[in-house]
Amino acid sequence: MIVFLDRQHAGKPDKISDRGASIEPAPEFGLGMEAIYTGYLSMMIEEKLLQMGAKVLSLSDGPYSDRHKRVNEYAKNFPAEKMAYLALHLNCGGGDYGSYFYFPGSEEGVRLAEIICHKMRERDLPKIVRHLPKASSPDDWTKNAYYTIRGVSKPVGICCEPLFMDTHREYLTLEKLREIATGIALALVEWGL
Ligand SMILES: [Zn+2]
Repeated sequence: MIVFLDRQHAGKPDKISDRGASIEPAPEFGLGMEAIYTGYLSMMIEEKLLQMGAKVLSLSDGPYSDRHKRVNEYAKNFPAEKMAYLALHLNCGGGDYGSYFYFPGSEEGVRLAEIICHKMRERDLPKIVRHLPKASSPDDWTKNAYYTIRGVSKPVGICCEPLFMDTHREYLTLEKLREIATGIALALVEWGL
């Protein structure tokens, strides 16, 4: 299995200062920015996946459509591998849940999103009261999630929003981010190996 981990918001040549949503920084971090926290999350998912024998290719620059094209190109090198693409985000705005968006009509997307949610429910994650697999669509409130995965062809795309930075502030520590990362990595391995 190969997992493409995309730290989104960072690396946009046309919007170089974008780092996603911002909040007052948590004590362990100098900047309370979404793409800083997802950077740590990405590395922690990668570390766990490597320990469990998966292959990882990480991305963090270019317009999202270019990243998707590159992922599709890279994917051609590995015709026999099962592949997933995670667009990594953290929500903000007062929700109390985590969401995992899949491409509309993707059966493997449904399956992977459900396994991720199942693994998260098994972990001790107080205050994240629901973990929801959701179809994304260009036509409703899920369209931003849709655009983060729409250009990826063979790899199964999931837009990850595991928590709300404002509601779930206590998760913005290395220890708690690792809890989230481990759940996502365990789910990927169950899905793909
Ligand atoms: Zn975001």
